[in-house]
Amino acid sequence: MRNAFILLFCLIAAVCGSAKAADAEFGAQLRGMRPPVPAPSQTAGADAPAGQISAALSRADICGADGAALAAAREQRRQKGLKAIEREIRPKFAALVKKYSLPEPDKDDYVNSAMTSISFTRPYAFNIKLAKEALAAFVRVIEDAVLRHVALPDYSKIQSILTAQINMEPCLAAADKAELVRRVKLTKLVKPSQYISDYVMTSGDLWPLIPLATQDQAINVSYKDMGGAENPNIERDQSLIVMYPGLFLSESRGRDASVHIDFILAHETAHSIDSERFPGLYTRYTDCMKTRYRQNFKVWDEVLADYWADAVVAQIIAADPSSDKLAYLRKSYEIICGTTGENDAISNIITTAEHPSGNYRIENVLGGNPEILKNLGFQNAPASACRP
Ligand SMILES: [Zn+2]
Repeated sequence: MRNAFILLFCLIAAVCGSAKAADAEFGAQLRGMRPPVPAPSQTAGADAPAGQISAALSRADICGADGAALAAAREQRRQKGLKAIEREIRPKFAALVKKYSLPEPDKDDYVNSAMTSISFTRPYAFNIKLAKEALAAFVRVIEDAVLRHVALPDYSKIQSILTAQINMEPCLAAADKAELVRRVKLTKLVKPSQYISDYVMTSGDLWPLIPLATQDQAINVSYKDMGGAENPNIERDQSLIVMYPGLFLSESRGRDASVHIDFILAHETAHSIDSERFPGLYTRYTDCMKTRYRQNFKVWDEVLADYWADAVVAQIIAADPSSDKLAYLRKSYEIICGTTGENDAISNIITTAEHPSGNYRIENVLGGNPEILKNLGFQNAPASACRP
């Protein structure tokens, strides 16, 4: 009878309300129930089929036994992709070097040195308008070459899944949901050349973009970051997602050209509604996570961005029953495999760290999403998620 009462209390309280009390209880259950994490050699590694996993989601399920190796392999593919594309873009870069009267680029680092020379060559070094024009021209060459091989994803699909997930949250107030949905809808996906041409206003914002052109990343730039009301091309509260073409360089071409970029796009979009932009809105969620996993962060925005992104990914894999869901997740999350930020172990005292590690993001945030666990066929999926 007492057990039934506790369970009922957990179910009610863990949905909304006093998440802290409910999660102290849940935490005790979890610590008692959670099976020990198997040694890497026994975990479901890169070749284990989906459906064999019955314990909690572990880093190794997604990243294989060595997450750092997976991230290193991805980086190697990016460099190989850059080499391949260099042959294609070099004549066009050479024409731009001539057009803009830039010094001859370094032969071994042609792409980056051609773009970097803009920052120290007159008149560009002191004329933001001309510098933007020159850099955007180079970046457009890279974009065009990359996007001939890989299509950009359908961004409106990501936005509409995310807004549906916001509206389905059981604990958020209607006014808060409306504001989060408004921010998501205001968020715009732009290519880096467009970002440079239309939105960058100062050299201080322009030069750091040079090395990013070939890097494996996307960023969310806030209204404030872009100068706020002083920037004529941006709407109030609008954020931009800039997807650098280097993201696609790590994708092998031809036979296996699939790009699992939904997670990255959803994560970046969720930064438009994270705990930095909405301080105070996510206390219920962060309190619950702190209690459940015994870990605190100075900044929770990366965890919040993952919370929403994982909810989007769960909908995407659920929508295709025939898909190999685990393979999809591995491809989507490999970019965070091997990233560090705090110690791997879940410690017994609440510790404070700057950023969550890939392990935390996979095991606690992705692994704390009941829809993801259900889709992967987990037997012991926790009944309730921490919710904002
Ligand atoms: Zn992020």
